[in-house]
Amino acid sequence: MSNDLPSLPLAFLPTPLHPLERLSRHLGGPSLSVKRDDLTGLAFGGNKARKLAYLLADAVAQRAEVLVTRGAVQSNHCRQTAAAAARCGLACVLVLKGEGEPAAAASGNLLLDQLLGAQIRWTEDADPEVVLEEVILALQQQGKRVYRIPYGGSNALGASAYAAAAFELLEQDTGFDHIVLASSSGGTQAGLVAGGRWGGFRGQILGVSVDQPQEALRTRIAEIASSIGPLLGRADVFSADEIQVTDRYRGGGYAVLGDLEREAIRLFARMEGILLDPVYTGRAAGAMLDLIASGQIGPDERVLFWHTGGTPALFAYADLLIDRPTV
Ligand SMILES: *Cc1c(COP(=O)(O)O)cnc(C)c1O
Repeated sequence: MSNDLPSLPLAFLPTPLHPLERLSRHLGGPSLSVKRDDLTGLAFGGNKARKLAYLLADAVAQRAEVLVTRGAVQSNHCRQTAAAAARCGLACVLVLKGEGEPAAAASGNLLLDQLLGAQIRWTEDADPEVVLEEVILALQQQGKRVYRIPYGGSNALGASAYAAAAFELLEQDTGFDHIVLASSSGGTQAGLVAGGRWGGFRGQILGVSVDQPQEALRTRIAEIASSIGPLLGRADVFSADEIQVTDRYRGGGYAVLGDLEREAIRLFARMEGILLDPVYTGRAAGAMLDLIASGQIGPDERVLFWHTGGTPALFAYADLLIDRPTV
C-alpha cells in the first residue's frame, strides 16, 4: 500500500531503521530502535522533507514562482522549505518570529536559510500570521505566483507524506509496541496515525508535545488525520480520543533547553553516536527515557523512537550544551 499522490523526489527514502543496542542494554530494556528521518537529506534532513515532497509537487503543478512560509528563528521547517525552493528553482520568503540578528551572529538553521538563498522577513512585535498575509499580498501585487506552505507543512497534503511513512515502516518492521515522536504542528503524528490504521499497525503512537497543551494538540491531530482520507479516496474519521499525546515534558516552554533535553542529547550521543536536537527530538527522547524509567513503558516491550531531525539547531545552543571548556 502506498500514497499515490504526486510527489517530487526531495527526500532519500526509505530512511534507515536500526536497533539501539548499546542504549537498550544500558537501560536494561526495553528493546529500542530508531527510524532515521534525520537522514532524509534536503539540507541536513528532518521530517519536513517528506511533507515538502508532496507540497512542492503541488506548487510546481500550480506553476508557483515563490514559496512563502513562517516559523521560529531556528525553524527546521523554514530551512527545509528554503532548500526545497532552491531544488525546484523557486524563490522563497521566510517570515521568522523576532527581531533579526546581525548576519555574523546567524547560526544553525538561520545561517542555512541564508545560504539557501531565502529572503527573511522578521515579524518584530507583529502577529506572524498577519505579517505572512502582508508578504503574500505584496508579492501578488508585484505579479508573482505565490504558493503558501502551511505552518509546519501540516495540512492534509503535507501530512499524507507521513501516512506513506507509516507504510514504509510497516514494510521494514511491523512489531513495535510503541512509536515515540516529537509533535508540534501535528502533521507528522496525524499521518502516522492514519497510515498506521490503514496499514494495520497495532502499537501505540505517542506524541510528545513540545509546546501545546495536550487537549488542543489531540484535537488538531485528529482534524488533520481526518483530512487525509479524502485525498486518498478514503472516508475515515479520527477522533481526539484515539490520539495519544503527552504534554508533561514541556519544561520551560517551546525551544527552552532544560536538563531533560540536555541529558537525552548526551545519552544518545555517547551511547549511539546519534545526534538529537535541542527543541524536538531531545525533548521527545527525554520523555521516552522517563516513561521507561517510571515503568510506563515495560522492559520487555519493543519501542521505536522516530527521529524527526532538527540537528542544525544544536549549533545555536552550543553554550547551553557544553558545561565548560576542558583541556
Ligand atoms: C517540525 C518538527 C517536528 C514536529 O513535527 P510536526 O509535524 O510539526 O508535529 C518534530 N521534530 C522536528 C525536528 C521538527 O522540525
